[in-house]
Amino acid sequence: MDCIFCKIIQGQIPCQKLYEDEHVISFLDIYPAGPGHSLVLPKTHFDNLLEAESEVLGQIMQACQTVAKTLQAVLKADGFNIFLNNGQAAGQIIHHLHYHILPRFANDDLHIKLPSHKYQPGEMEQIQKDVSSDMVSPDKEQILSDLSKISPNQKLNCTQAFTLAQQYKISKKELGELLDQQQIKLRNCQFGCF
Ligand code: AMP
Ligand code: ZN
Repeated sequence: MDCIFCKIIQGQIPCQKLYEDEHVISFLDIYPAGPGHSLVLPKTHFDNLLEAESEVLGQIMQACQTVAKTLQAVLKADGFNIFLNNGQAAGQIIHHLHYHILPRFANDDLHIKLPSHKYQPGEMEQIQKDVSSDMVSPDKEQILSDLSKISPNQKLNCTQAFTLAQQYKISKKELGELLDQQQIKLRNCQFGCF
């Protein structure tokens, strides 16, 4: 794969390495926004944040904390920004997941200023409603992964479904929606349990 960060990880391109463990590497950004501007990335190639496994995210964030703490202490910085550009529209140039750590100094004359707009009436509530109803929690993701092992179109009876709901600690309505999503059918129930 033609990825400059993979080449750095493999030692084919040099870098000013700050930190390395089994899963993560960190080195100085070659075109820094300020002294100590660093990158933290997984050794495994993921194009971006959405591609990464949750285990890897924990490892990267742990390394970010270690690197940021050391940078701040050694450079006598007053704080730091951590950011990630995800996707071309967000300014991602290198498509190998990486966080930026930028040490900040009280008078560093660097102004990261976002505009602040106003929502139209009802727009904010609509976004909240749309997004929260589509949100998949890690728990729900685990349930979906377990349910995906049940063959599609397999029919469950009400007792089996109730047992599943209990096992996953979710309401029968929630279970019904998840079963629909996985196209797992329930045997016709005369009591309308689901
Ligand atoms: P972005 O993809 O926009 O989040 O940022 C990529 C960052 O990688 C930029 O800040 C570049 O300066 C940095 N960069 C590109 N090539 C190298 C390299 N060979 N060594 C260190 N940093 C690099
Ligand atoms: Zn890569």
